[in-house]
Amino acid sequence: MSRRNYPSAFMHPFSHIPTLEEEGPVIVDRGEGVYIYDDRGRKYLEGNSGLWNVVLGFDNKKLIETAQRAYAKLPAYHAFFGRVGQAALDLSERVVKLAPMEANRVFYANSGSEANDTVVKLLWFLAEQEGKPHRRLLLSRKNAYHGMTVITASLTGKDYVKSASGLPVKEVRHLTCPHHWREALPKESETDFSQRLALELEQTIRNTGPDYIAGFFAEPVMGAGGVIPPPEGYFQAIQPVLKKYGIPLIADEVICGFGRTGEFWGSQTYGMKPDIVVASKVITAGFFPMGAIILSPEMTERIDKASAKYEELPTGFTTGAHPVGCAIAMAALDEIEGGAFANVKARSPEFQKQLRAMADHPMVGEARGVGLMGALEMVADKKTKAPFAGNLDVSERVSRQALKNGLICRPLGASIVLAPPFIITDAQISELFGILRKTLDEVYRDIAKKAA
Ligand SMILES: *Cc1c(COP(=O)(O)O)cnc(C)c1O
Repeated sequence: MSRRNYPSAFMHPFSHIPTLEEEGPVIVDRGEGVYIYDDRGRKYLEGNSGLWNVVLGFDNKKLIETAQRAYAKLPAYHAFFGRVGQAALDLSERVVKLAPMEANRVFYANSGSEANDTVVKLLWFLAEQEGKPHRRLLLSRKNAYHGMTVITASLTGKDYVKSASGLPVKEVRHLTCPHHWREALPKESETDFSQRLALELEQTIRNTGPDYIAGFFAEPVMGAGGVIPPPEGYFQAIQPVLKKYGIPLIADEVICGFGRTGEFWGSQTYGMKPDIVVASKVITAGFFPMGAIILSPEMTERIDKASAKYEELPTGFTTGAHPVGCAIAMAALDEIEGGAFANVKARSPEFQKQLRAMADHPMVGEARGVGLMGALEMVADKKTKAPFAGNLDVSERVSRQALKNGLICRPLGASIVLAPPFIITDAQISELFGILRKTLDEVYRDIAKKAA
């Protein structure tokens, strides 16, 4: 590839600059179903649904037509000062009915980061208004991903993004990553591991004082941490501790929400009873920026009370609850409830079977996942689980070689993650894993050759 277009005026988020300098960007031109095409007409199977979000296909006609109609009717309006489009009211009624817990209120932001950031602000708003201004500490887990604003990057538990900017802020504490395969003690069962993590949580709460903790954030399945489903009994062990000390549980369903795990919510797959749910990526199938905060009646009541005291809810975003975005979300929910979710359920067994079959590859240490999401963790030694030397960049190499072979899959740490669109077929699942196996073989041969 040539160096065309690089350097350009465009600042690439989360992109490896030396690679860009050498190869230039992939210019994405158009999409069709589960495939995208670059500007040279090369076709790629999108094994990550873009960034987990474009679940209904890259050319979904219903969503496009809905957007066109919505733009023709009311192309833009805000939702401040008691003004609002009908679509925002309709969407909210629908979302609270779909929620994984009893819920009665939805607040809109423009992204997952903004939504999580706003949750923090609401928790701190409650702390101030309820006369507990010291109640500010936020609990998260190592390897979590909750966004990239200052506070959500702090909640995010990936060291390389936090330390890059001197984060986290002082209000955040990270607990052990609930990854049994990597973090469990020798011979420790999944449920024992979960019990130990619940004990760690309780000790942390006691050490800091329950009165100082504003909330516990958790993705049902850690996504950008490398697709890490919780161990058996994890939320069953964690939740009674949170309840005992009156600490709200925030389920970050930005990836898991609306079907990804094979249930409508990750909370349902793992028995979570959240006080607040955060949704984003899937809610508009990636066709419009949106973040949503879904509140339990108890949270709503507390926020209403605090707002009444304050005379208004002291937060909002100019383009939050955008009329076009809300119309697209309604259409996306029509598509998800009308068949795409059923397809996730129907295709998940085949996807998981082919994913787990990759575990026999000499480079794969663990094949894990649930529903239509999965990861392959690369190791140099399957017995000791020793990772490859960092300078080999194995997962990076796999992803670059897969791109050459016509598959988009993402390296996250030592893992390759997959989260194909909800509309994928069994034949496309076989195509995906066929390309991936060929790719792993090629990279493995290349590494072996260099080592020899
Ligand atoms: C992507 C993601 C976010 C952040 O969403 P943005 O729209 O990128 O700000 C938050 N939480 C989880 C679990 C995510 O995967």
